[in-house]
Amino acid sequence: MSPEAPPTAPRVLVVDDDPDVALLVKVLLERRAGAEVEVATSGESALARVSAFRPDLVVTDIEMPGLSGLELLAELRRRMPGVPVVVMTAHVSVEYAVSALRAQADEFLTKPLDNARLVDVVQRLAEEGRARRGHRRQTVLAVGAHPDDVEIGVGGILDAHAAAGDEITILTLSRGSRGGNADSRQGESLAAAELLGARLFLKDLVDTEISGGGATVRLIEEVVAEVQPTVVYTHSVHDRHQDHRAVSEATTVATRRVGTVACYQSPSATIEFHPTRFVRIEDYLDRKLELLACFGSQTASRDYLAPDFVTATARYWSRFGGGSAVEPLEILRETAEFVRVHAYAEQEA
Ligand SMILES: [Zn+2]
Repeated sequence: MSPEAPPTAPRVLVVDDDPDVALLVKVLLERRAGAEVEVATSGESALARVSAFRPDLVVTDIEMPGLSGLELLAELRRRMPGVPVVVMTAHVSVEYAVSALRAQADEFLTKPLDNARLVDVVQRLAEEGRARRGHRRQTVLAVGAHPDDVEIGVGGILDAHAAAGDEITILTLSRGSRGGNADSRQGESLAAAELLGARLFLKDLVDTEISGGGATVRLIEEVVAEVQPTVVYTHSVHDRHQDHRAVSEATTVATRRVGTVACYQSPSATIEFHPTRFVRIEDYLDRKLELLACFGSQTASRDYLAPDFVTATARYWSRFGGGSAVEPLEILRETAEFVRVHAYAEQEA
């Protein structure tokens, strides 16, 4: 994509329990701001949409049954800190304005809406939001041998990518029947991918017998050809588990034309694991714990999935990366573009 390419239409999510108002705002923004607009008629359905739609901007009513606009605002701030939110209400009162501003709304509009002002605010904030997020979206591929490997290694970093509007794909090479019931682990992998707004490829290699050669390389190459990732995360070769080492080796070969490849830490990493990049994830640690909670069939039997262990590990690595929680990476290759994504995560953290 050349820098001269025209900006794509801003994507706006409009949330209002009154369908007439929502439709009015939608038509206005489509016609006068050239926006691509989706409508949600409750805070809950808005939250269900955001990971798939990836809005550049959210315009929400305050007073709605169920999740209110202010509660939605707080949740959006947590999930997508770079996305601007405009709050609108028919009830002009100081308390609303104060609580909206305290909850960090980017703009506060009163109904009946001043159309010209709404269009103006949406255009300005959508542009600012894109600039804040570095505009160019990354395409991320995270490769793991078994269900939950990727979430343990880079769950926080993937959440940061999701918040930046990047596209995420998870490739898991085995269903992990040795570590538990394969069907339930498949459902768990899907639930975690959904929480991240990620696409999931779940392959069927035999658990504990994954090879680092031909067949595994070809499987990964197929996904790389389809997804065209700009950033790849995979296992480290410094790992006691032979499946993890095999996947690391096969991924390194299959992603030889990808600009950035980094290796994450697994609970079975050896003392030779030697990270050189430390990504702050304190804003995403809660989300990482939610991701890991999806793997319910394992949490009872695996100490390394216990929230205090995950938190303590992230806390430990923060001695190198600052803040209070960090995920470490061994960098195999990297481009300047990638450094910006991590700078974004750090700045938002
Ligand atoms: Zn594993």
